[in-house]
Amino acid sequence: MKINKYGTLFIIPTPIGNIYDITYRSVQVLQKIDYIAAENYNKIKKILNKFNINKPIISFHQHNEIQNTKIIFHKIKKKKNIALVSDAGTPTINDPGFHLIRECHKKKIKIIPLPGACAAITALSASGIPSNKFCFEGFLPSKEIQRKKALNLLKYEKRTIIFYEAPHRIIHSLQNIIEEFGKKKKIVLARELTKSWESIIFDTVENILYKYKNNQSICKGEIVLILSGYKNKKKKIISKKIQYTISVLKLFLPKNKIAVIISKIYNIKKNYIYKYLIDKIK
Ligand code: SAM
Repeated sequence: MKINKYGTLFIIPTPIGNIYDITYRSVQVLQKIDYIAAENYNKIKKILNKFNINKPIISFHQHNEIQNTKIIFHKIKKKKNIALVSDAGTPTINDPGFHLIRECHKKKIKIIPLPGACAAITALSASGIPSNKFCFEGFLPSKEIQRKKALNLLKYEKRTIIFYEAPHRIIHSLQNIIEEFGKKKKIVLARELTKSWESIIFDTVENILYKYKNNQSICKGEIVLILSGYKNKKKKIISKKIQYTISVLKLFLPKNKIAVIISKIYNIKKNYIYKYLIDKIK
C-alpha cells in the first residue's frame, strides 16, 4: 500500500464491539501514518496494543474538535499523515470529525476514507426491513416533547428509518413510537452488535416494549432501532358508475364473468372486483 507523500487525512472505522472487525487495510494504514486523532484514548490504545502499533495520539473529541483541527492542519501542512478514529465505528457518523473534514475540503487537503464497521449499517443489513431506501436519524431528542415531535414528523416517512438509542431511554422511546406510529408498527431492535451476547429482535413495537418491560436485564447495552417505513393503505373505491354497471350485469351474468368485464372496462384488477362481488353482492 502506498501512503500519499503529502499530508493526508485517513478516516478509519474501528470495531463496534468485536476487535477483529478492524480491517487489514485499517491496520496497515495505522502502521504507516504519523499521528492518530482519536476520540477515546483508551479504546484506540487497546486496538494499537492488539496489533503492536505505537503512534502518537492527538485527543480529538466534541469538546476540542475545533481547536484541535488547527493542530492537525499544522501537522498535515508539514506533510504528516493523520488517521481520524472515533470511539467506535465510523468517524463522523454521530461522532466527531465533521468540522475537521469540512475544513480539509476547504483547504484542498486529501481525505481517504476507509470502509468498515458502522452500527447503523450492520443492523440494517440484518433487519429484514427494506434496505434499498432508508434514512438515518441518529439519536432521538432526550426530552419527551421534542422526541414526540421528531417522531411525528416521520409518521409518513416511506423509507426505513434508523435510530441510535441509549439503553436508559429505550422504554420511553418505544412508548412514544407506539403513540405516534401505532402499536403494530414493525421494528427491529439490534442490541450489542458483534458482541457474543448480541441480539436482534424483529417484532411489533408493542411486543418488543412488552419484552423490555418484563426483562430489565435486556435494557442494557448499545442499541440500533429500525422502523419500517409508512405504507399507504389507500382503499380502492368502487365508484357509483361501476356499481351501476355491476347492478345491470348481475341480471344476466355470473360473478366471475362480471369481474372479467368490469376489469376490462374500468382497468381494475379482476381479482379485486371478484372479491368485491363475493363480499358485497348477493
Ligand atoms: N460512529 C458510530 C457508528 O459508526 O456506528 C456510532 C457512534 S454513536 C455515538 C454510538 C451509538 O451507536 C450507540 O449509542 C448505539 O446506538 C450505536 N452502537 C454503537 N455500537 C453498537 C453496537 N455494538 N450495537 C448496537 N448499537 C451500537
